[in-house]
Amino acid sequence: MYQYELDNQDIQSYFKEFDLHESHLNILINNFYRSRDKDLKQFSQLPSGLITKASTLDASLPKIIDQQTALDGTTKFLVQFDDGESVEMVLLPFYKKFTLCLSSQVGCAMGCKFCFTATQGYKRNLKVHEIISQILLAKDYIIQLAGEKRDLTNIVFMGQGEPLHNFENLKKAINIIRLRNGISISEKNITVSSVGYLPGLKRFNELGGVNFALSLHAVDENKRGEIIPLNQKYPLKEILPIIDAMELRRKQTIEYEYILIDDFNDDLESAKELYGALKDRTHMINIIPFNPFPGSKLKKPSLEKIQSFKKYLVDLGLRAMIRTTKGDDILAACGQLNSKKEKQ
Ligand code: SF4
Repeated sequence: MYQYELDNQDIQSYFKEFDLHESHLNILINNFYRSRDKDLKQFSQLPSGLITKASTLDASLPKIIDQQTALDGTTKFLVQFDDGESVEMVLLPFYKKFTLCLSSQVGCAMGCKFCFTATQGYKRNLKVHEIISQILLAKDYIIQLAGEKRDLTNIVFMGQGEPLHNFENLKKAINIIRLRNGISISEKNITVSSVGYLPGLKRFNELGGVNFALSLHAVDENKRGEIIPLNQKYPLKEILPIIDAMELRRKQTIEYEYILIDDFNDDLESAKELYGALKDRTHMINIIPFNPFPGSKLKKPSLEKIQSFKKYLVDLGLRAMIRTTKGDDILAACGQLNSKKEKQ
């Protein structure tokens, strides 16, 4: 059994013959996910049989087989799992903090036209321990880089894969990420991004108050369907009411992401449609200038077009910001991840 797939309940049941006291459970969670030194013998209060059983858990991490750092400090890692499959994850520095953009699937089945991952197709879901391992690898890297002075504070499920298409593993991974004595990153610092995979979206409140980001990118159903094929199955008219009905907890946020593509959705008509659709909603709109990737015919709009698109929305009272592109010189920005060995 993998150590990094165990939540509170799993630990209780794995060690059920030892009738774990809460303090024992806390020691184990701390040891498994925080100190990770495996040396449980120092805890004299733990039964020796439990220590022996704990040592049989598989605590190995996947391999980092490639790593590149961009001019702005963004680092992209290619992480390879036991079966040889791999994903990319991206670590973004921000003053003393780091955000990790992690992957939830090997490849992706959604086929979005603005995304390099789509070109590699779908291979498989990541397992819980493979999702958690990305975080542990990132934490190890931060310690090497900056010692204890800086830490991983934010997680965004915006890497490879549609997270809501791997719902059960996503849900369990989030439970583990939030464990107080373990990785301990709270739900308000975790964001799940989705193109609107409806079966998962309907269950979003099971994820315990994490933030939600919808990849919107166009308001007209046909136009959205051109770049997000899933829209033909789950159109916006079904997605938006579900988002509107979400009961938000304190500090839980919803954002709309809008990738701005030259001569596709960056004109005044598109801005008007966006305003029309979102004018009664108070959530932030993140405008993301398209990030080109090999083989794509889509283009990034000029800075002038990007700024006037934002200005139009803001002048009408919507909350909108342009997201700063990070790591695009190493293909680590939004929509540029691809873990296939021979890229197009
Ligand atoms: S944008 Fe997200 S959902 Fe669409 S293909 Fe890329 S990884 Fe998959």
